[in-house]
Amino acid sequence: KLGNETLKAELGRAAWKVLHTTMARFPDTPTQDEQDALKNYLFLFARLYPCGECAEHFQKILKKYPPQTSSRSSAAAWACFVHNLVNERKGKPIFDCANIGDFYDCGCGDDEKEAMS
Ligand code: FAD
Repeated sequence: KLGNETLKAELGRAAWKVLHTTMARFPDTPTQDEQDALKNYLFLFARLYPCGECAEHFQKILKKYPPQTSSRSSAAAWACFVHNLVNERKGKPIFDCANIGDFYDCGCGDDEKEAMS
């Protein structure tokens, strides 16, 4: 367990950023293999998250609300929902998940061509 609240918050912000940006880049129509990969990633993320108290709580959330991986929008909505559960627990404001589409952009371009230019 990280004892320092500042480090825990910094880790949390970085981790949420990776998580939400991953969802924003997930395929609109994922293959079964891509859906399985995201599910496995999330369960391992929850298991290995380097804050013991957070990992324990997040694993319970995953059990109660299994990851939605059938499309980009359902994955993004699911991640927004579970982040709000953590916000609620911490007494933080609830994020409006209707805005999730515009909020996370990795800046890595929409396709290979763009990434190479
Ligand atoms: P964060 O919650 O880190 O959010 C960062 C930014 O994301 C916000 O500023 C906002 O712009 C945006 N955002 C906010 N809500 C949403 C949403 N629902 N969807 C999309 N974007 C949003 N801390 C604890 O003390 N105890 C815990 O048990 C705990 N569990 C955690 C579990 C996980 C899996 C993770 C990743 C973090 C956990 N944390 C926990 C850390 C905590 O969630 C915050 O990251 C930390 O408190 C810093 O909060 P913050 O106010 O800077 O914003």
